Amino acid sequence: MDKVLLDRLREDFPEVKFRRGEKFLFRPPDFVMLGPEEVDDALLILHELGHYLCGHRDFGTLAGRLKMEREAWEKARELAERYGVLYDEVVVERELDTYRDDLHQKSRCPKCGLTRYQAQDGVFHCPFCEEYT
Ligand SMILES: [Zn+2]
Ligand SMILES: [Zn+2]
Repeated sequence: MDKVLLDRLREDFPEVKFRRGEKFLFRPPDFVMLGPEEVDDALLILHELGHYLCGHRDFGTLAGRLKMEREAWEKARELAERYGVLYDEVVVERELDTYRDDLHQKSRCPKCGLTRYQAQDGVFHCPFCEEYT
């Protein structure tokens, strides 16, 4: 774990609460939980901080979430440059894939197999089944 980096981040972003916990996550408005120490620690921390800096406050739908994940990674790219952290595209794609898979899986209508859409309230709707059955 890059303790120096974390110290610098705490100094540069005193308003953000960094805590070590079960997994990496950002909880709006200003809480960054750090998962168990791992190789990609530094980059993952910068990503969660990216959510904060992008002003993400409500993750909304899965599609909206995927967009926010991308934004947070773009922000992490800037931060990585600033703090001298290696921006590993493989890690980024791996993380984004979990959201892509999730979106893909949950979007599929279990009845007819068509791609459903998700309303703002989080409920999935199938354009076929709701129209014709
Ligand atoms: Zn994220
Ligand atoms: Zn359907």
